[in-house]
Amino acid sequence: MANVADVLIIGSGPAGLFLSAVLAQQNLSVKGLSPVDPAAPWPNTYGIWADELETLGMSEFLEHRWRDAIAYMGEKKIPLKRDYGLIDREKLQGHWLQQGSQYGVSWHRGKAVAVTHSAKLSEVTDENGKTYLARLVVDTSGHNPALIRRMPALKPVAYQAAYGIVGRFSAPPVEPEQMVLMDYRDDFLPASEKQLPPTFLYAMDLGNDVYFVEETSLAHVPGLSMETLEQRLHRRLAHRGVRITETHHVERCLFPMNMPLPDLTQAVVGFGGSASMVHPATGYMQGAMLRRGPDLAQAIAQTLSDPSATPSEIAQAAWQQLWPEDRLRKHYLYAFGLENLMTFNTVEIQQFFTTFFGLERSQWAGFLADTSTLPEIVQAMLVLFGRTSNPVRWGLFSSVFSHGNLLRRTITA
Ligand SMILES: Cc1cc2nc3c(=O)[nH]c(=O)nc-3n(C[C@H](O)[C@H](O)[C@H](O)COP(=O)(O)OP(=O)(O)OC[C@H]3O[C@@H](n4cnc5c(N)ncnc54)[C@H](O)[C@@H]3O)c2cc1C
Repeated sequence: MANVADVLIIGSGPAGLFLSAVLAQQNLSVKGLSPVDPAAPWPNTYGIWADELETLGMSEFLEHRWRDAIAYMGEKKIPLKRDYGLIDREKLQGHWLQQGSQYGVSWHRGKAVAVTHSAKLSEVTDENGKTYLARLVVDTSGHNPALIRRMPALKPVAYQAAYGIVGRFSAPPVEPEQMVLMDYRDDFLPASEKQLPPTFLYAMDLGNDVYFVEETSLAHVPGLSMETLEQRLHRRLAHRGVRITETHHVERCLFPMNMPLPDLTQAVVGFGGSASMVHPATGYMQGAMLRRGPDLAQAIAQTLSDPSATPSEIAQAAWQQLWPEDRLRKHYLYAFGLENLMTFNTVEIQQFFTTFFGLERSQWAGFLADTSTLPEIVQAMLVLFGRTSNPVRWGLFSSVFSHGNLLRRTITA
């Protein structure tokens, strides 16, 4: 049937463009459905550890690279001895669009509103009633997806929130050529505000006297308000004697960290934010997406090679590839970690991260990128528990009782 695609991708964000390109390279016919032009610029800035792209042979997609990112925990400056970068969004988007079109991906304009399944096909309807047929539908429409069903929430949804400014300043807000992953100093806050939810500065020198400074709440229920973050950013800068002299761009960031996992029995597959692929303890997703996409595409292609496979069978194989049992277990452990982080005050969080970044680099890097095995993560956490301060240790210990349901899932998934 000429009108039937092997795969219909919903959404043209990073997840949609990437997966459509890798699926098409598997000799599959791929269509995309997006309410916006897939070439319209992505709104978000994406940071990533440089070695994550290097390992994938994708270093050329770094727009900026900073040697030896640092963190401040209290007055303590911690050299992370690891390069950090910003993804060149325009280049990466152009690359995937070009690859997609080379392998025959066609994009259609529309917003998906419903999906139905028959024995052989899935049918997506857009908001104008137009229908699209495919053997498999992959929803990549982001954290609040159009078609994906999620499992019941185990915890209230926590949000990462940040307010940032790209611009020029009366003096460098961070040291020139520097990238500050987390500055948790709270010396700019009066004592009465120190008990409020901790926030940190994420900042970098973009060159030509332009800097990006962003006041960030790692996670909170509900997400911290933009007003609070904006006010804190201005106070932090003022405390260092820094004034904003030019504002080029303002970034307001709010996204869920611990969305419930998707229902893995449904006949539509998710990828990216829709499939809860954001790391629950850090908020990063781009590296995981790049690592997991090719295997997912291969699993889909393999199942599609059986002409009698139903949408449900194809989706099952895909979900199994994306969320195998060991990854589910790790996910619950990270979610447990997030609950811990949210109970810490600023001093405890400083103590926690001081110990965390004092682990072997392979340990903390593997935790952040989700490339360590479950036993490796548990081992790293035990070392951290042994080395950290008593208040942090007590917090972790108490969480075993208050968030034991997440730990149980780590054991039984
Ligand atoms: C401000 C911000 C900063 C972030 N920074 C980082 C970072 O530095 N590093 C990192 O690793 N992660 C970061 N993340 C987390 C994550 O990487 C991003 O949220 C990422 O954009 C998710 O990609 P996605 O393609 O899954 O979804 P999105 O980028 O949200 O794209 C979804 C696409 O689907 C389309 N769509 C929506 N509804 C429909 C529909 N009904 N039908 C068809 N199409 C639809 C949308 O138009 C959009 O094009 C950040 C998130 C935010 C919000």
